Amino acid sequence: MDEFLTRVEVNKRKHENYLNGDKYSVLMLGLDSVSRSMSKRSLSKTVKYIIEDLGAFDFKAYMKVGDNTYPNLIALLTGKFAYDESELPWSVCTQIPCDHLPLIWKNFSQKGYVTMYAEDRPSLNTFVHFKNGFVNQPTDHYLRPFWLAAEPEQKLEKQILHNVMEHMPAAVNVNKLVSKCLGNISKVVIQLNYLQQFIRSYKRMPSFSFTYFTDIAHENINDLNAVDDDLVSFFKWLKDDGHLDDTIVIFFADHGPRAGQNVHSLRMENSLPLLNILLPKTLKEKFPNVAINMEENQRRLTSTFDLHATLRNILDADYEHPSSFKVGNKERGTSLFGDIPRKRSCSDANIPDHYCVCYRVTPVNSTSDTMVPKISEAIVEKINSYLKSSPDCALLSLSKIIDVRKMSEALTLDHVVRKYFWSIGYVIPQDSDTFSRYTAVIETKPGLAQFYASINIDSKENIVTSILLL
Ligand SMILES: [Zn+2]
Repeated sequence: MDEFLTRVEVNKRKHENYLNGDKYSVLMLGLDSVSRSMSKRSLSKTVKYIIEDLGAFDFKAYMKVGDNTYPNLIALLTGKFAYDESELPWSVCTQIPCDHLPLIWKNFSQKGYVTMYAEDRPSLNTFVHFKNGFVNQPTDHYLRPFWLAAEPEQKLEKQILHNVMEHMPAAVNVNKLVSKCLGNISKVVIQLNYLQQFIRSYKRMPSFSFTYFTDIAHENINDLNAVDDDLVSFFKWLKDDGHLDDTIVIFFADHGPRAGQNVHSLRMENSLPLLNILLPKTLKEKFPNVAINMEENQRRLTSTFDLHATLRNILDADYEHPSSFKVGNKERGTSLFGDIPRKRSCSDANIPDHYCVCYRVTPVNSTSDTMVPKISEAIVEKINSYLKSSPDCALLSLSKIIDVRKMSEALTLDHVVRKYFWSIGYVIPQDSDTFSRYTAVIETKPGLAQFYASINIDSKENIVTSILLL
């Protein structure tokens, strides 16, 4: 039945263009909110199959560069910091349509690639959630109209689910429930099926596809396991039908889970998303340097910007001398096909401090340390500065301090990080850096919500910045 739900109408203009030379198709398969360690736990069959049987590279210290989906996918697709006015004006996508974004699938299209973008959950789409969306269809094939048409069906399902859940304990939050199916078919299967149709339609032709799954893991990390077999079947089909011979497959996530109870393990999981890459055999044979570098780079500190630089290499069929990607005259990302430096800090890799998991952290005694009251006060103040613009919201006050930790300032090699994540965990202060860095978890009232923040304090014990981490 799922065959009838979606259909790919072949784009005739791009249907005469065959892969040649060192040109490869690109298949990006993305999962929202899945860390590398989650993939090992919940997609164990899939990652075992693609790593052990198909030889995928498994990036153990691949780090995110922004908080949620949008800034990470913008970094991936444009190589820029989403909310940096000098790089991408805030108005693009928030006041004017997202059509103005320099998304890399446009570059692939200009080079004769047929393009496809599919993302489930239309209300939460990357370019729609608090954003303006596209006026013109962004890619040759685009699944959004299908999901919009399916939305009334989804609302009905949610209502049914709501009625069922009324009989469940009060602790179950009905609003957090998301239907993972359309009718009796998994949404993941529907998108995989659409992707299969797309790949079949353009066999041996240059294609760039970006298929993104939001619903399966965004709110709840426990459902991912349900699609493990479906993903294995998909990868087996890719192999058996010969698509892995001319396609670079990137199996990735934007970030890890962003909500949970254990904030410190969550911080690690959140910052270290899944990244597995499959290269065609011909590419590895013709350019052994690429396979050698990828083998090493799996254990080095890498970021979303490096993956962007890699896409640029594929676009330019630049495998002999993989190049880095610059914004202005500053290096932004180094291709994963090239030599990622062994000694590399988060700052070198353009990973903002508050997402960097290479810091060594030392617990602080929250009753005796004199900085703790200042820190908690600064966090509450920061939250209230956001709430002040909403008169219906009560201002918050401190309920309790849960955990405060101090981050190392000096250049050190973090053996713990190295042991568990295979990364070289160096922390390098900036020249002018005289800050002390802290992370803190506090609870506020009313509501008893927990907030996690990173705080910089100068040598005179003034709070310089406090950033809330979601
Ligand atoms: Zn996300």
